[in-house]
Amino acid sequence: MVELKTDTSINAMHEAGRVVGRALTAVRAAAAVGVSLKELDDVAHEVLREAGASSPFLGYRPSFAPTPFPAVICASVNDAIVHGIPGRYRLRDGDLVSIDCGAELDGWAGDSAISFAVGRPRPADVRLIDTAERALAAGIAAAVVGNRIGDIAHAVGSVCRAAGYGVPQGFGGHGVGRRMHEDPEVPNEGRPGRGLPLRHGMVLAIEPMLIASGRDGYFTASDGWTLRTNDGSRAAHVEHTVAITRTGPRILTERRAGGRPRP
Ligand code: MG
Ligand code: MG
Repeated sequence: MVELKTDTSINAMHEAGRVVGRALTAVRAAAAVGVSLKELDDVAHEVLREAGASSPFLGYRPSFAPTPFPAVICASVNDAIVHGIPGRYRLRDGDLVSIDCGAELDGWAGDSAISFAVGRPRPADVRLIDTAERALAAGIAAAVVGNRIGDIAHAVGSVCRAAGYGVPQGFGGHGVGRRMHEDPEVPNEGRPGRGLPLRHGMVLAIEPMLIASGRDGYFTASDGWTLRTNDGSRAAHVEHTVAITRTGPRILTERRAGGRPRP
């Protein structure tokens, strides 16, 4: 069932989303060669704590997972697409990192992700990340009253495929509300004009995932969580929680512009 949110609820969700945006900004600022993924998790956890927010990731156990998720961020490096567990791994020059973070504040959830390079970026990674951002922007632009879920999916998938990238099937966006994962599903590929009509008050996480090689295959690593590309090629993942309103899409997890450029 798809729950429509009141304007008051959307404002409350925006507060939760801002906490996520702050956490991701802080993680990105802290990410450098030699820093461990666990240390990045600590940075995000502190932002949530200061805001009085809790983590919908910590202890999360969806049906596919063998163990509860042990952290407040997912940290997926290089050939990891999503759901990486932040552990002792220390970032190396040129790593491509995707950080996914959620927060719950006053009973409302927010969910967002960024991809970036550490140290000296590889040109191929810059192009991959830039395309992921463009796919997300296209998906958000399609998140308007009168469109359907398939229009968002088509917008996202078209940008990814036109650039020659793979799109892993079976994972994508979703509704957000009191819980981080609600109906409906928001696939990263689809047919325009199909699916659920978009209405004022729907709040959706839109989250393109791209595989550099152009192939779609992935597998679940031995930790039971991390999705990795079959061919070892690199992946990017970006996400915003977006409210559909009569006056257009409203990004609830925006990040304030900081002192450094971000893709
Ligand atoms: Mg997420
Ligand atoms: Mg999500």
